[in-house]
Amino acid sequence: MRAKLNAMWDGMTLIPGRDCGGCTVCCLVPTINKPEIQKLSGARCRHCASTGCTIYDARPPVCRSYYCAWRTVDIFSDDWRPDRSGVLPYVETEGISEDFDLATGIGLMLVGHPHRIVRQKWFQDFVVTGVTSSVPLFLSLPGPRGHQAATVSLNTEQMLDAIARGTVKDALEAVVKILRGWDFRPAVITYSGNDVSEPVATDGV
Ligand code: SF4
Ligand code: SF4
Repeated sequence: MRAKLNAMWDGMTLIPGRDCGGCTVCCLVPTINKPEIQKLSGARCRHCASTGCTIYDARPPVCRSYYCAWRTVDIFSDDWRPDRSGVLPYVETEGISEDFDLATGIGLMLVGHPHRIVRQKWFQDFVVTGVTSSVPLFLSLPGPRGHQAATVSLNTEQMLDAIARGTVKDALEAVVKILRGWDFRPAVITYSGNDVSEPVATDGV
């Protein structure tokens, strides 16, 4: 895993033969705060249809340049496509301790049912491989609409202990519990003029 991460961070390239297909997770989950487009976290972009972006050829630069780690980092199998796995993997560049010799890490944002995901062996195996290889790994949970996500490091003494004891599932469930109890902060949107956040559906409207 470390060798592939080092190679990837020499420059972003897309994994050949892999495309977004019917996934639109990044048109829903993140905040977008750019001069040309703004969107609240958790609000679907109003240009997003079940078939994908309806303004694909004219989509803004931020949408042209963004790819999740499933598209760019060759450490995830095809099954990790975010809409299928419930995990949005991303390259994390902030909050990396100087104890690591890698300057970037991997964040795993749980966009599906958190407990169901962390109980899966494939997910636990990924965490074990990352943590035991000293790859900076983060577990993240989206906040409510318009709020920032909660994120914690998985490279902890508790996780190493859980790996040694074979109790990784319990340790991950404990982390999910912490994330669910997070004091989610409002996301900051500084630009205006093209808010594409789909309105919240209300009865009778
Ligand atoms: S989350 Fe990844 S796979 Fe899904 S639409 Fe965005 S870039 Fe494509
Ligand atoms: S404009 Fe951007 S965020 Fe909106 S649907 Fe198209 S690609 Fe997604």
